[in-house]
Amino acid sequence: MESRRKIAVLGAGESGVGAAILAQKKGMDVWVSDKGKIKDKYLSVLQNEKIPFEQQQHSEDKILQADEVIKSPGIPENAPLVVKLKEKGVPVISEIEFAARYTDAKMVCITGSNGKTTTTMLTYHIFKKAGLNVGLAGNVGKSFALQVATEKYDYYVLELSSFQLDDMYKFKADVAILLNITPDHMDRYDHKMENYTNSKFKIIQNQTELDSFIYCLDDEVTKTEVSKRNIPAKKYPFSVKEQVPEGAYKSGDEIIINLNQNPLSMAVQRLSLFGTHNVYNSMAAAIAARVVDIRKETIRESLADFQNIEHRLEHVATIHGVEFINDSKATNINSTWYALESVNTPIVWIVGGIDKGNDYTTLTEMVKQKVKAIVCLGKDNRKILSAFSVLVPTIIETSSASEAVRKASKLSQSGDTVLLSPACASFDLFQNYEDRGNQFKDAVRAL
Ligand code: ADP
Repeated sequence: MESRRKIAVLGAGESGVGAAILAQKKGMDVWVSDKGKIKDKYLSVLQNEKIPFEQQQHSEDKILQADEVIKSPGIPENAPLVVKLKEKGVPVISEIEFAARYTDAKMVCITGSNGKTTTTMLTYHIFKKAGLNVGLAGNVGKSFALQVATEKYDYYVLELSSFQLDDMYKFKADVAILLNITPDHMDRYDHKMENYTNSKFKIIQNQTELDSFIYCLDDEVTKTEVSKRNIPAKKYPFSVKEQVPEGAYKSGDEIIINLNQNPLSMAVQRLSLFGTHNVYNSMAAAIAARVVDIRKETIRESLADFQNIEHRLEHVATIHGVEFINDSKATNINSTWYALESVNTPIVWIVGGIDKGNDYTTLTEMVKQKVKAIVCLGKDNRKILSAFSVLVPTIIETSSASEAVRKASKLSQSGDTVLLSPACASFDLFQNYEDRGNQFKDAVRAL
């Protein structure tokens, strides 16, 4: 008898466990290995499904025997084990690449440095409201592989990070959205923008002229790259600065989505999400919806009634005339730039955490214009202090969300906004950005 294909799954999180379930269902010989401790939730799934696993170690010999390895996006390319696998010629792929082999659903895929989750949720919302049989996956909710194993959808809306794209080779997006490319995760890309850009552009690999590519024409890096590449897919740019023949643009107070000479217009005021960045996100989602022929009225309604997701420019409370906004998900400079831009009052800005190679000079103008005081919330605030001490009269350091909120509240007066938009990762003081946002919200409510 032919021996079964041996699959090793590295990392027993949402994506790894989903991939293991799918591999087992497809009759493969699957084995899961996690160098850390596996969360109880996933441990019990593995046990119930009778999938063999190990934790707190990687048995290299066994992993190197695999025919193919599915790697969690959290494990870097230069991890010694991954290097060894590649040297040996064992294919290392992402869960998305693996699962896509087993579905013929149409793929609407979203990437970018910022706005992925928002645009993914928004696109999914429009598709759902249009009555399509659609799944939501990628970085959000249940893993793609698990859904491929257990559901049958006609469409998937997938949020894809550059780490996932790095391990994708044959996968093809029917509709690809690239929102923007600004420096992020540079530590994982040898501090080379070119590497990061190439990774993001994998969103259009394997596309043909039957597929669609939606991208932001106002994003310099994307624009330059698009002009250099030979892209077979049908291109739909979007812009708030210039009119485009096919795609989306802003005209006065309206956005126009124009495909096949059949334009849809909508007042920016009616969009449920505010701020220029969300005009972009709304345009991108609306183009994707038009590509699959969703009715214009459904798109308008969906863009107007979408409920914002937590920790993204989330209004928390107004206390003594001071508005508190939680933008804990802003973990890089560009997202914080848009947060500062979207606030029209003096700002007490809470910033800091783990710096991923930030260049704060891009915020200088915005900070000069809008920020009256800075509250650092991180263990090592040196870069922030040196970038802004000369620009902002008051700059203080704190080491917990409650201390930061209390001090920010003291520094503000009626008509101001206290904005948590850290531009940094959260792991120095918090479990993750959700924990940081929740602690911030609790502290505001306790004022
Ligand atoms: P991602 O999933 O790419 O991290 P999110 O939708 O979760 O993106 O938003 C992350 C942060 O980026 C939030 O602070 C949000 O306000 C900001 N943001 C959202 N969309 C954009 C965009 N198109 N450009 C820049 N910043 C954005």
